[in-house]
Amino acid sequence: METERRRRRKDCRGSGAEGWSSGAKSSKRVKSEQKRDGESEEGLIPLNSWAQLLMERGSDPHSGGSEGQAQAVWVWRCDTVRLLLTPEQEELLWRVGDAVAKLINMENYRRRRLFFDGKGIDKSWKSAWKRRETDYVEIYRLLGSMNFHEVTRAVSEQWRSFAELLKARKKGKLGPWQIVHPPGYRKRGGERLPIIYVRFDNYKVDLQKKMLRLGYWNVELRFKGKPRWLVKPGAEQGRLTITYDPVKKRWYAKIAVKVTLQIERNPKSTLKAGVDLGREILAAAAVEDGTAFLYRGGPLKADYYYFERKISAVDRTHSDPKSEEMDRAILREERRRLYDKMRRRREQAFANLAAHLARTLKALNVSIVFIGYPRGIAHDAPGKGNSNSWSYWKLITRMSVTLENYGIALFTVPENGTSKTCARHGCEVVRMPRGLVKCPRGHVMHADVNAALNILARGARLLKCEAEAPDRLRVFSFTPTPSGIVEAKKRIRKTITLHSRRGNRWRARYAPSLYL
Ligand SMILES: [Zn+2]
Repeated sequence: METERRRRRKDCRGSGAEGWSSGAKSSKRVKSEQKRDGESEEGLIPLNSWAQLLMERGSDPHSGGSEGQAQAVWVWRCDTVRLLLTPEQEELLWRVGDAVAKLINMENYRRRRLFFDGKGIDKSWKSAWKRRETDYVEIYRLLGSMNFHEVTRAVSEQWRSFAELLKARKKGKLGPWQIVHPPGYRKRGGERLPIIYVRFDNYKVDLQKKMLRLGYWNVELRFKGKPRWLVKPGAEQGRLTITYDPVKKRWYAKIAVKVTLQIERNPKSTLKAGVDLGREILAAAAVEDGTAFLYRGGPLKADYYYFERKISAVDRTHSDPKSEEMDRAILREERRRLYDKMRRRREQAFANLAAHLARTLKALNVSIVFIGYPRGIAHDAPGKGNSNSWSYWKLITRMSVTLENYGIALFTVPENGTSKTCARHGCEVVRMPRGLVKCPRGHVMHADVNAALNILARGARLLKCEAEAPDRLRVFSFTPTPSGIVEAKKRIRKTITLHSRRGNRWRARYAPSLYL
């Protein structure tokens, strides 16, 4: 569970999208981690700060005191802006960025050798710092002591998280899909990929003039884009990371920002919701008050197959013995571009889904969400039928951050068996075509909504609070796409039409009144 938190942080850092999750430094946090270790035996894992806060306060959110009181947590977020550089500035960034990549590679080489020789894991930043006047003296001069220090810290963070993953694997807490590697080299296609770390106190952001001032190198870089978090009152800047995107051929600056999130709510009137993730239905959410949402995975899946076809066409040309080496380089570039585009489109659709869900749940006064952690699907092997392209973990991470922004707590709950029993009667259900399930007591409901209700009930039980089972359900259907959320045009009919022909496609509609 600790690993999952780590993993999430690593995930966030890798994508740089929404930034890092809340740091864990205070002694209070440590205490709660011990407690959470105990809790995780039962399977309830807090995924964001509001969930952690809830667990620290005691299991019953209704008795947690503070009625109508404001609550606050601080979290790390990340603002990404695009840099607009003069040729001289770009030259400087290449030079510095390459030196940092070289330093990271040399350090990782040294630490990897120690590790593979069985001499343990070097997690310290001091071991790299000590070599500043000897092995790395040229790089040290180029970066300055503040930024050199920041690089050594970044390297040590990677190794620390590697050590934690190893520990978790020993305890058997990792899934089979989680592969643990020691930190590798910053390279792409045989060349070093530049990266620059700037310590929090060595740069300034001018939001009016849109200028980023780097202290040690004494340059002012123009940027484009609106920082979302830096403008919040009380925001504090953290590490600045400058990277080069070889696909877009652009430079980006990622500014870590520490912000305080606040909520004010009456804990007595808040609701809970359950979310189930799947393949046909990307996410199904059910709220205590009987509202349910379906987010269809169709367009995303179509996107995946479209790009897969294009990529395999590129691969075929690439492996053709007649193609020239020059062409091959172009093809490799094209392949990278396609993968990149596919990833971006998927992440954008996830972001839209998460934002839509968070907004809707907030409007319904939901404060706690339980999400079924999908085991067994899409984790085994990336491939056609069972495609990793869904990357549930990415979706869950995105949801936890977005819900956190809206003041909603998110927990994961093991979802095993939640699709097999009736949420209302607890008896075993029979699967029917078109994603429906039939209860032996004589009613039919949507399989994913049923699972979401079961997850809601299980989560509430684990959190030791009550969840109300709704008598009737109103189901709304949406389709997340990279450009936004498309709402189903027609309200769902009262009667069930299993197969209605519309255009060339067979579609199923689900009746709300079927949940009896
Ligand atoms: Zn039933």
